[in-house]
Amino acid sequence: MSAKASAKSSVAQLDVAQPIQLSELDARTLALLQESEGRFRRLFEEIPNIPVQGYDHHRRVIFWNHASESLYGYTAEEVLGQLIEDIIIPDSLRDQMVPLIDSWIAGGATIPSGEIQLRHKDGSLVPVFSSHVVLNNTQGQPEMYCVDLDLRDRQKAEQALRASEEKYRGIFEKITQGLFQIDATGRYISANPFLVNLLGYESADILKARLTQPQQLYVDKERYKELQIQLNTQGAVRDFESQIYRQDGSTLWVRETQTAVRDSHGDLLYYEGRLEDVTLRRQAEERLRYDAIYDKLTGLYNRAYLTEKLAQILVAETRSEQDESWAVLFVDLDRFKVINDSLGHIVGDQVLCAVAQRFQGVLRLHDVLARFGGDEFVLLLRGVNKQQDAVQVATRLLASLQKPVSVGDQTFSVKTSVGIAFGKPGYQEATEVLRDADLAMYQAKAQGGSCYRFFEQDMHPRALERLQLEHELKFALEHHQLQLVYQPIMDLATGQVGGFEALLRWQHPERGWISPTTFIPIAEETGLIQPLSWWVFQAAINQLQAWRSQLPQAEKLTMNVNLSAMQLKQENLVSYLAGMLQAAKLPGDRLKLEVTETSFLEASEFNIQIFQELKQLGVGLCIDDFGTGYSSLSRLHQLPLDVLKIDRSFVDGVEHDARKQAIAQSIVMLAHGLGAKVVAEGIETLEQQQILQQLSCEFGQGYWFSRPLTPEQVDSLLNQHGFAA
Ligand code: C2E
Ligand code: MG
Ligand code: MG
Repeated sequence: MSAKASAKSSVAQLDVAQPIQLSELDARTLALLQESEGRFRRLFEEIPNIPVQGYDHHRRVIFWNHASESLYGYTAEEVLGQLIEDIIIPDSLRDQMVPLIDSWIAGGATIPSGEIQLRHKDGSLVPVFSSHVVLNNTQGQPEMYCVDLDLRDRQKAEQALRASEEKYRGIFEKITQGLFQIDATGRYISANPFLVNLLGYESADILKARLTQPQQLYVDKERYKELQIQLNTQGAVRDFESQIYRQDGSTLWVRETQTAVRDSHGDLLYYEGRLEDVTLRRQAEERLRYDAIYDKLTGLYNRAYLTEKLAQILVAETRSEQDESWAVLFVDLDRFKVINDSLGHIVGDQVLCAVAQRFQGVLRLHDVLARFGGDEFVLLLRGVNKQQDAVQVATRLLASLQKPVSVGDQTFSVKTSVGIAFGKPGYQEATEVLRDADLAMYQAKAQGGSCYRFFEQDMHPRALERLQLEHELKFALEHHQLQLVYQPIMDLATGQVGGFEALLRWQHPERGWISPTTFIPIAEETGLIQPLSWWVFQAAINQLQAWRSQLPQAEKLTMNVNLSAMQLKQENLVSYLAGMLQAAKLPGDRLKLEVTETSFLEASEFNIQIFQELKQLGVGLCIDDFGTGYSSLSRLHQLPLDVLKIDRSFVDGVEHDARKQAIAQSIVMLAHGLGAKVVAEGIETLEQQQILQQLSCEFGQGYWFSRPLTPEQVDSLLNQHGFAA
C-alpha cells in the first residue's frame, strides 16, 4: 500500500482500555492474530466495488473503505467518528432509521437487506442494495458492518429500458402501419391501433377474440395457403399482397411482411409483422389495366384493343395459321354531333351508352365490339363465312336503333351508317381494313345514312379524298388552322366603311388555302359545322369588340357573319348567340347574319320563329347571294329582313349588260319595298360602283374597295384612313 493510501487509510482505532500481561506463546498467537486481522482489514479497505462501512454501538463510523469513499463522496478522515445519520441517512428517513439502527445494533431486531436510497456528500441520493451484519468487538460491544452495493448503473439501465420501451410502444400505437404479433397457429397476440382500425374492429381485444381462425381473414384461401407455406419453409414472408376482409365484410388489399421470432434454442416464439393498406394503389393499377383495353364511357373495348385483335388475325393469316373468315363493321351514328352540340356532352354521353347497350344485344359469341371514339363503333366479326352473315349483323345493328333512345325524359331518334370490309388476302395492316370499312361507312352516309354498304375496290377516289379532308378539317379545328378574314362593306354614298363581313379561311399545312366553298359543305355533312360556326361567331364578335375598344368611331361598325342553313335547325341558336353577345357586351344590332337565299326558301315555321327571336335581340338579317335562288315573294314578306345582298353574278359585267342592270334595279326596288337595304357583292371596278350607286344601292362590297383583310390589315386600314377606304 502506498504511503498516501495508508495516510488516507480508514483504520478505526480499537479502544484497548487496559494493558494485559501475555505469555510468549500468547504473544506469538496475538501477533499472528493481529497480522491476520490487519490483512483482512486491508482487504476490506482495498476491495474494489464493494463499499463496506462499520459503526459502533453509538452509530459512529469506525470503518469506511475506499469503495465507500467513491460511493458516498466522503473520505474516511471526514467521516470517522461521525454519526451515520449525519452522513448518509437522508433527512426524510432519519427519524425512522435511527431507532431501527439502534435496535439492529442492540441485536433486538433482525436486520433486513434491501434497496434503499442513501445520501451522497453532494446531497444527491444514491440507490444501494444494503446488507448488514452486527459483530461484537473484543470488548464485547456490538458493531454494525454494512455492505452497500451501488445500484446506480442498474437504475440507469432500467431507465433506458423503460424509455426505449415507451418509445417503441409509442411507435406501435401511433404508426400508420399495421403492426402485429401472431402465434404459431395464426392467432393474434397483439395488434396496434392502426391495424385494429384498418380491419374495422373496436379494440385489439375484440380483434383477438373474433379472429380465431387466421384464414377467415383472407378472401382467397389458396393465397393464405401460399403465405403459410412460405412462412413454414422460409420463416418469413416479404411484401406479400393479398385481399382481406374487414369486420364489416368489405375488402382491402394489403401487403404484409412477417418474420419468425425464435428463442435461444431456435424454437418459434411467435411471428411479428407489419401490414400496409395498398387498396388505392391496387385500384389504380386495375383501373390502368382496365383503361388499356376498355372504353371508359361505354365499357366496350377500346380502339387499341380492337386494332390489336385485328392485327393478330392478320398475322395469323399470313402465317397460314388461320383460315377463318372475318369482317369489320365500321359504325358511325348519323348527325350525332347535333345532339352533342345542342344538348351538351352529358346527354350526348348518355345517348352513346344507350346505343352501346343496344349494339351489345346484337353481338354473337366471339364478336368484338369497340368504341373507337366519339360516335364511332367498330365491330369485328369472326367466323363469317359468307357476306350474308355480315349483312345479317349489320341489319340487326340498324334495327336495334329502330326504337328511339331515351335519356332521362327525352327521347332521341338515333340512326347509324355501317360500312363493311370483308377479310381478304391483300390486307397487311389493321389500319387498311379500318380505312376501307370507314370508307364504306362514308358511302352509306352519302346515300342518306341509316343503311350499310360493303367496301368495294372501285369506290370513288374522290370519296377517299373527301374522307381525308373531313379528318383534316376536324384536326384543323382542334389545332387552330382556321382563321377569319374581314372584307369591308362600303357605304356607297359616303365612301366610308360601314362594316365587315367575316369570311372563313383554312390554311392547310400541305394544300395551302382551301376555299370555304370546298370545306363548308363537308362540315355541314359531318356535323362539324356546329363547332366550326360557334368558333366563327366567337372570333368575329371578339374582333369587333377589340376594334370598338381601340377606336371610338368603330362603335358604328357592324359585323356580318355567314350562317349555315344547318344552324337554323339548331334549337339553342338564339340563346347561344344572346349569351355570346352579352359576354362580349356587344349590342345585338352590331351583328348581322347572312343566310343564303336557299336556306330561306327551306325555312319552316320553326325557322321563321328563330328569325323573329333574333330580331328581338336586335341582330340584323341579310339574304346572301340574292337572285341565285328562287325566292317566293310571298315568303320574303314573312321574314324580318334588313339587307338583301345582290349576288356577284349580277354585278359582274353590269356595266355592259342591260339585263343585269334591270335585275339589279328590281332587286333594289324589291328590297326597299320590304324596308331592307341593299349590298352589291363583287364590285371590281369604279364603273360598277357608279352604276350601282345610281341604282340607289346603299352599300357595296368587292375587290374594287378591298379584298378580305387579316385583322392586322384592318387595324392599319382603320388607323390610316379612318373609316373611308
Ligand atoms: P359569300 O358569303 O357570298 O362571301 C363572299 C365571297 O365572295 C367571298 O368568298 C369573298 O372573298 C368573295 N368576294 C368578295 N369580293 C369579291 C370580288 O370583288 N370578286 C370576286 N371574284 N369575289 C369576291 P369566299 O371567302 O371564298 O367565301 C365563299 C363562301 O363561303 C361565302 O360566300 C360564304 O357563303 C361561305 N363562307 C365563308 N365564310 C363562312 C363562314 O364563316 N360560315 C359559313 N357558313 N359560310 C362561310
Ligand atoms: Mg356572305
Ligand atoms: Mg355572297
